Amino acid sequence: MANVFIGLGSNIGDRKKNIAEAINLLSNSPDVKLEKTSSLYITEPIGYVGQDWFLNSVVEITTSLSPRDLLYQCQAIEEQMGRVRTMQWGPRIIDLDIILYGDEVIEDDELIIPHPNMHKRRFVLLPLVEIAPDVLHPKLNKTASELLQVLKDGHKVEVYTD
Ligand code: ATP
Ligand code: CA
Ligand code: CA
Repeated sequence: MANVFIGLGSNIGDRKKNIAEAINLLSNSPDVKLEKTSSLYITEPIGYVGQDWFLNSVVEITTSLSPRDLLYQCQAIEEQMGRVRTMQWGPRIIDLDIILYGDEVIEDDELIIPHPNMHKRRFVLLPLVEIAPDVLHPKLNKTASELLQVLKDGHKVEVYTD
C-alpha cells in the first residue's frame, strides 16, 4: 500500500460540491482508502486570470493502485464529472493531480511525480502542510512545511468558510 497525496481544484459551478463529489468518487474505489482531507482553500487563479477563484483541497489516501492506474482513475473521475479540456490552466469543473506517491520519483510523458509544480504553489502547500507537515519531497529532500517556508508564490490562498 502506498501513501499518496492528491490535490483537487474546481472553479466552475458549485465548487464545494464538485470537490466533495470527486473525493467521494475517489474513495468509493475498493482500491483506495481515504485517510485525511484538508480544509477547503479559496485561491486566486494562476495562469489565465480572467476566471473565477478556485476552491482547492488536498487529500491523503492509501492505495494499492499503481501510480499509472491511479492517474487513470483520477482522469476517469474528471471525465465522469464532465470536465471539458480547453486551455491549460483554464477554468475547470474538477482537477485531480497526484502530488506525491510515497517516495516515488517518476518522470515520463504521461506522469510526473512528485507533481512538477507542487513546491511552487501555495494552494498545494498550504493544504498539504495542514494534513502532513512532515511529509518529504523525495527529490528536493525537504518537508512540506520547509517548502512552504521558502515559498515565493504571491497568489492569495485562504481557508474557505461559507
Ligand atoms: P498542472 O499540471 O500544471 O496543474 P493542469 O492540471 O491544468 O496543469 P491537465 O490539463 O489537468 O493540467 O493535465 C495535463 C496532463 O498532465 C495530463 O494529461 C497528465 O497526463 C499529466 N500529468 C503529469 N503528471 C501528472 C500528475 N502528477 N498528476 C496528474 N496529471 C499529471
Ligand atoms: Ca492542476
Ligand atoms: Ca491536472
